[in-house]
Amino acid sequence: MDNQNTETVLPIRRIQKLNDASINRIAAGEVIERPASVVKELLENAIDAGATRIEVQYSNGGKSLIRVVDNGCGIAVEDLPLAVDRHATSKIDGSDLLNIQSFGFRGEALASMGAAGHLDVTSRVSGGSHAYSISVQESQVSVVRPAALKSGTVIELTELFKSIPARLKFLRTDRSEAGKIAETLRSLAMASPLVGFELVEIQASGKQRKVLRFPPLESIKEKAYLTRIDDVIRGGFAENSFALDGEREGVTLKGFAAIPTFCRNSSIAQHLFVNGRPVRDRLLFGALRAAYSDVLPSGKFPVAALFITCKPELVDVNVHPAKTEVRFRDPANIRALIISTVRNGLNKDVLRSATSLSNTLADAWTIEHSQKTQRDYSKRVRFDPNKRSDVQNRTINQDITSAATLGEFPPWEEVAVHEDGPAVQDYILGAARAQFHQTFILAENKEGIIIVDQHAAHERIVYERLKQTMCEEVVESQLLLVPDIIKLSDTDIEVLLLFSNQLAKMGLEFEKFGPDTLCVRAVPAILGEIDCLSLFRDIADSLNETGETLALEQRTNAVLSRMSCHGSIRAGRRMDAKEMNALLRDMEKTPNSGQCNHGRPTWIQMSLKDIEKLFGRR
Ligand code: ADP
Ligand code: MG
Repeated sequence: MDNQNTETVLPIRRIQKLNDASINRIAAGEVIERPASVVKELLENAIDAGATRIEVQYSNGGKSLIRVVDNGCGIAVEDLPLAVDRHATSKIDGSDLLNIQSFGFRGEALASMGAAGHLDVTSRVSGGSHAYSISVQESQVSVVRPAALKSGTVIELTELFKSIPARLKFLRTDRSEAGKIAETLRSLAMASPLVGFELVEIQASGKQRKVLRFPPLESIKEKAYLTRIDDVIRGGFAENSFALDGEREGVTLKGFAAIPTFCRNSSIAQHLFVNGRPVRDRLLFGALRAAYSDVLPSGKFPVAALFITCKPELVDVNVHPAKTEVRFRDPANIRALIISTVRNGLNKDVLRSATSLSNTLADAWTIEHSQKTQRDYSKRVRFDPNKRSDVQNRTINQDITSAATLGEFPPWEEVAVHEDGPAVQDYILGAARAQFHQTFILAENKEGIIIVDQHAAHERIVYERLKQTMCEEVVESQLLLVPDIIKLSDTDIEVLLLFSNQLAKMGLEFEKFGPDTLCVRAVPAILGEIDCLSLFRDIADSLNETGETLALEQRTNAVLSRMSCHGSIRAGRRMDAKEMNALLRDMEKTPNSGQCNHGRPTWIQMSLKDIEKLFGRR
């Protein structure tokens, strides 16, 4: 039989060219997701136009109005129709997509806005005698008409997504959209400290409310960046951060990163820029996380502003219509650059613990006039955990608990005081004066007093020492006089044996002894006398958690971190003056000793000034 005759005939599908309005609407879908994306595009245009003052106004979270006013170069009257046309731009000629120096280059933003809402562009070129304006609604472009404007450009978008109800439905509350607008403005403001930015909400009553204000700074020195970044991140970023300056194979990294105790619970305060363009790039976020992996527990996020600069051809910015993602030609180089530069900074800043902690600690002490108690002292200082500033709320909870325990001091007489110590002024962490609750060391330095969490501090020191010896050679082990026979579960034994070669380098020698027993022959000498069973159980846990998914270095560090916890002076041990001072001196020499392996601070300082204030002497 002839097959061809029985085959069903499919209808022919004719191809037609989409009209401009549809094309624009499709493009708008990519470029304009929400009001904040409009603000981003308009801010970028204003910065590209060389503006030094930019004001953004909005109503209803940007849904009913977004207006951006700038003092940039303006648009020539004959170019106005082109400005709102698709694929029309003054920023590139199309010959070299790898050499893009401006934010914009796709020539799509204004056209997309004209498809997504009602767009009005009014502009007067620098030195021009008149202003002109043009409007677009549903991609219908008006004629150019004279308008009133002193200089620069005003772009206004109203009725966003009115013609695209599907989009409208996906928008969040006004408040939430307004929050996203503010976030967008902050991140662009960071990279352009010479430009002054203002964000204003126009309320239903017509009243204007200033939401953000970043004054223009005068010079582009490092200080200007830090001032602007501090304006944006707030909460004491400047005094709790260190400068970054690194270079690797033609790529430079500058910026600022906060010390670990200044961390957050999300990546919200991580600002990354590539050639001045804010990006949210997984590679960069991952590298930043890796740089802090050793000093922050999971769930805590570093705070930083990183500016990466390289030749335009080393990075492709034309990856995503919203231009928030980039592709590097050599991603491994960028990762290594971030990790090494940030770690360098972290290691240099050996001894810092967030100043915000000690400041807020002082704030949290209140003078309570005690009338009921007829004691020798009529005024008592009391810790009031409710009287905390935002900063402290943001830092780790444990800070608050340790501060709270502080508030429950026994009367001073009960504290053992050690008179003989080294000269106060000689050391950063001062001289140990007392130990209290067998948990904290009280030291005195030139600035005031210092309180050290003895366990946390010692744990860090042991960890850093273990890491260092691991780098140089194998960790020195100590043979047990009598091998320790410990009982563990099958899975624990299995994972320990799997990594036994690696663990041997860390000073742990053991072998299988029976079906569910291990024979431990040696442990790292630095740990001193320890409980083998709980140490091995902990290491097995850590290996089970991390398994082979982690890189060797990270896995090793995870194990070392667990080990150091076992070898540390536990809270609850009495220390004499000599031991305490030795611990302080060790801390001063140890990298990262400002926080323990879990990211909690190891010490806090209260200045004499603060103490004097508490007593009304200032
Ligand atoms: P792109 O920024 O990719 O070039 P846009 O659609 O955002 O595309 O803008 C189109 C053109 O309009 C720009 O290339 C620029 O010449 C002009 N333009 C837009 N906004 C401004 C502004 N605020 N000041 C001066 N010129 C502007
Ligand atoms: Mg643009």
